[in-house]
Amino acid sequence: MARKVLILGEVRDQSLRNVSFEAIAAGKTVAEGGEVVAVLIGDSVSGLAQEMIQYGADRVITVEDEKLAAYTPDGYSQALMAVIEEEKPEGMIFGHTALGKDLSPKIAAKLQTGLVSDAIHVEEAGGNIVFTRPIYSGKAFEKVIVTDGVLFATIRPNNIAPLDKDDSRSGDVSQVSAEIKDLRTIVKDVIRKATEGVDLSEAKVIVAGGRGVKSEDGFSPLKELADVLGGAVGASRGACDADYCDYSLQIGQTGKVVTPDLYIACGISGAIQHLAGMSNSKVIVAINKDPEANIFKVADYGIVGDLFEVIPMLTEEFKKLKV
Ligand code: FAD
Repeated sequence: MARKVLILGEVRDQSLRNVSFEAIAAGKTVAEGGEVVAVLIGDSVSGLAQEMIQYGADRVITVEDEKLAAYTPDGYSQALMAVIEEEKPEGMIFGHTALGKDLSPKIAAKLQTGLVSDAIHVEEAGGNIVFTRPIYSGKAFEKVIVTDGVLFATIRPNNIAPLDKDDSRSGDVSQVSAEIKDLRTIVKDVIRKATEGVDLSEAKVIVAGGRGVKSEDGFSPLKELADVLGGAVGASRGACDADYCDYSLQIGQTGKVVTPDLYIACGISGAIQHLAGMSNSKVIVAINKDPEANIFKVADYGIVGDLFEVIPMLTEEFKKLKV
């Protein structure tokens, strides 16, 4: 059944986050030959519309207003509802990001429809669109079909491959005007903490440190390795609690959930709450001096040793490969 599917593009620092392109790919599957319409919200976002089309969107709708310069749940939901009322989509895909997690339940409630959150795979099977999502902190997976209402899902970044970029694609770009009013929150200023470089939730490579890193300075070799690999630095809660790094780096049940291609866990014991945030990474390398550490149970490759000896060696070897 061909459907019209709405995709929310996410803009950060005037560029599109990768999850926007992944959402288009998921949207194509849900649309089953129908139309994939991307929505961009902000104060000046129309310049990014073409890139959404190059990644597979059939059409782009922008909602621009200076009150939408920063994300607020009220502002974005008013903008999005104006588009939804006009377009009446049968499917919607957002990223399972901080923004998507905040906005999607609000929209689902307004539409009185269900929401499949945190999907990692979407396919057509037996005449249904089937979403796969991890449950019990990633220890099991459930397959979900939607039998009524809008097929509305959020997708976990880094799990659904975007379509190849095609510079020759073209599509219509139009504007919808929405009256943005009665905002209960206003963003006065954005103060960034420890988020220089690659975004942790979208990083293809993460070098994460635990209490074994021993100090704030102990994170330096991890940062160097992450830089050589073009990745991001993450941490266990143990390291955050010990004040070795900022909580924005925390990975796990009460931190960020990540699925990079490569996760290098350094001096992390592998507590269940940490595994909840990283065990679905594609390749896991663990460096720990305790051969009995739990992290080795989920690791594809284990290195028993002192991280302060092992990491510099890895960095040197990876540097040679890059030359
Ligand atoms: P430790 O368990 O102390 O492990 C340190 C490891 O470093 C050890 O295995 C040691 O062998 C190794 N080591 C030491 N020195 C070296 C060296 N020189 N070289 C190599 N290895 C070395 N934790 C999270 O990470 N994320 C969460 O989101 C999270 N949420 C939680 C929610 C709740 C409700 C609770 C109760 C706990 C939560 N925790 C979370 C905490 C979790 O239970 C663990 O306490 C925490 O993950 C331990 O961090 P760690 O592995 O860095 O430290």
